[in-house]
Amino acid sequence: VESNGSSVCFGSKLPDIKFTKLFINGEFVDALSGKTFETIDPRTGEVIARIAEGDAEDVDLAVKAARDAFDHGPWPRLPGSERRRIMLKFADLVEQNIEELAAMDAIDAGKLFSTGKAIDIPFAINTLQYYAGAADKIHGKTLKMSRELQGYTLREPIGVVGHIIPWNYPSNMFFMKASPSLAAGCTMVIKPAEQTPLSALYYAHLSKLAGVPDGVINVVTGFGPTAGAAVSSHMDIDKVSFTGSTEVGRLVMQAAATSNLKPVSLELGGKSPLLIFDDADVDTAADLALLGVFCNKGELCVSSSRVLVQEGIYDELVEKLAKKAKAWVVGDPFDPSSCQGPQVDKNQYDKILSYIEHGKREGATLLAGGKPCGEKGYYIEPTIFTDVMDSMLIAQDEIFGPVMSLMKFKTVDEGIKRANATRYGLAAGIVTKDLNVANTVSSICIFSQEELQAKREREMAVQSNGSSEPSMKVPSIKFTKLFIDGEFVDSISGRTFET
Ligand code: ADP
Repeated sequence: VESNGSSVCFGSKLPDIKFTKLFINGEFVDALSGKTFETIDPRTGEVIARIAEGDAEDVDLAVKAARDAFDHGPWPRLPGSERRRIMLKFADLVEQNIEELAAMDAIDAGKLFSTGKAIDIPFAINTLQYYAGAADKIHGKTLKMSRELQGYTLREPIGVVGHIIPWNYPSNMFFMKASPSLAAGCTMVIKPAEQTPLSALYYAHLSKLAGVPDGVINVVTGFGPTAGAAVSSHMDIDKVSFTGSTEVGRLVMQAAATSNLKPVSLELGGKSPLLIFDDADVDTAADLALLGVFCNKGELCVSSSRVLVQEGIYDELVEKLAKKAKAWVVGDPFDPSSCQGPQVDKNQYDKILSYIEHGKREGATLLAGGKPCGEKGYYIEPTIFTDVMDSMLIAQDEIFGPVMSLMKFKTVDEGIKRANATRYGLAAGIVTKDLNVANTVSSICIFSQEELQAKREREMAVQSNGSSEPSMKVPSIKFTKLFIDGEFVDSISGRTFET
């Protein structure tokens, strides 16, 4: 195995790409338009295969198949134990093909082959097995309502689910989405990201071998604004689940609202902080910081792209990070010594490099990296900026690449405040040996005993002022203003209306 861009492979050959068409009602079919698009190997920029380009009319066909499978097929009606059996078989088949699948994600997404084989695909298998175990344990509740009445709730499959998948974890996201739907007895239309369609089509094939009935899993490859938008706006999809950028999440929610008001699950972007406190072990903290933002080449929604370091440990940590970043090997995803493969595509590569240039122009200091690397493909050095101000674009925007912003803070309170100074909310990390700090910082709201006492006294004062004897008279209307922050106030315009 040679590094960086050479033609390398798992075992002795690159994976065979057998499945390039839409998977609808248990069959691989061309798009109705006959159109195809290229999927690119980010190690070289070369075309791997041409993939069927589905759009609205193909999504419609897939929804019809899923609807038919839901309304008339066996899947929702099978005992949970039978769905479990088929799902476990599906998981076994994924396991038997783990090398080929990890290799597929490596050439399609630039993910490390070793990580795919040891972490990503095993995690995907585990997800499928976990939900297989849940398939016969989906219980409602019994409710004692009165002497005469007893109620119960049933948990039933919602129907046809649309799943829109991102490109950074093609295998994990496929199973994070498909597995609970399968367990519940739903049928689905899956739209993989256009950058990474290969493994999703392979999973469709394996699902059929495992015995998942036709029409339960349909995979429509294609672009976001066409195929993706057709899923989120379809009148006969009962729920949509999306993972991807915040901007597109907004569009998905709008489309769901303006079509049939289908419920939506969104998992969107982040600019997550890692808070490192003075008492942390510097070596461990540096390793965590590096892994937090450079793993999967920074293409990770929960990436800890803002590293906030308490001042007492700052200089030592900076020194360690600079050394460790040098030893972080960027190279071909099949090379066992690589820590980081290429970015997923040219768009992403250009976007990251332009953020790095922006960081330099804004006055942040480059501690490591800052350039592309390799003779071909979309490789970028692991990049660390120091002297980053909270207001800089590189501290505000999700870059989705191997770019760390290092910031210094003094007190715990300052650390918390600055960690929260982001328009995103997704994840956060804390490195400390002090459990008290860990618990306080990780809780959303904690009252001290004094604050609690003061709060109770305020409540008692309000209750004693407001108490009045009940009377049988026409009620007097005392409250006619807006109630904001515990006070009755006029509207800002001063306008009123009659009731
Ligand atoms: P990125 O911007 O990082 O590529 P996206 O959020 O655009 O991530 O992509 C995530 C998924 O959303 C992909 O499957 C993509 O095709 C899909 N997608 C993109 N645009 C839309 C859209 N307007 N409606 C629905 N899905 C979309």
